[in-house]
Amino acid sequence: MKPNLPFLPKAVFFDMDGVIFDSMPRHAKAWSEAMALEGLPFSEYQVYLQEGRTGSGTVTDVFLAHGRGVPSQEDMQRIYANKSRIFDSMGDPIPMRGMHDVLAKVKSLGLEIYIITGSGQASLLDTLNHYYPDTFYKEKMVTAYDVKKGKPDPEPYLMGLEKAGLPASEVVVVENAPLGVRSAKGAGIFTIAVNTGILSDDDLWQAGADVVLPDMEALLELL
Ligand code: MG
Repeated sequence: MKPNLPFLPKAVFFDMDGVIFDSMPRHAKAWSEAMALEGLPFSEYQVYLQEGRTGSGTVTDVFLAHGRGVPSQEDMQRIYANKSRIFDSMGDPIPMRGMHDVLAKVKSLGLEIYIITGSGQASLLDTLNHYYPDTFYKEKMVTAYDVKKGKPDPEPYLMGLEKAGLPASEVVVVENAPLGVRSAKGAGIFTIAVNTGILSDDDLWQAGADVVLPDMEALLELL
């Protein structure tokens, strides 16, 4: 069995939020509400455009955009705590529709599975193992704890290549966010964007995606 890609990869690097889990609607709502508590407008569309940035990077961008200057450490902690509280109140993670089939297909093709995420939840691996047993492993993950710069810098994807011991030409990335696409393309990796959220496809093409697909069913067909 061969994937219908322009080349035969040895590994697939998956982003997590908006790819493995259908978590973006909640992140968008939580960020938007946490900023509203500060009197700052931050639309859900803007949250989607910013996806991939660290929490402190996001707070800084919004403060600067509204003439509040650089946020203090206290501002960052308060806002991020509010955002996390609102997010956590929305319930258990939801696996992305079609993702189990995609992962099963990737496994059946004999390709390695990595996660490259800006998320820094302490219980990340437990959560992944709960919803997707026998699929993800600590040594095949790059998280917020590993990187200094994070997406859209190529750093997380370059670190993934190093962990995998593979050249960019033998890897495929699955992303949903423009900044994630920029990061992966900056690392020189063929990048499939799956538009699982509210952005226009153009946002993903402009970020440099090699392919833009509407959902995981389309990805399953491509593999
Ligand atoms: Mg994402």
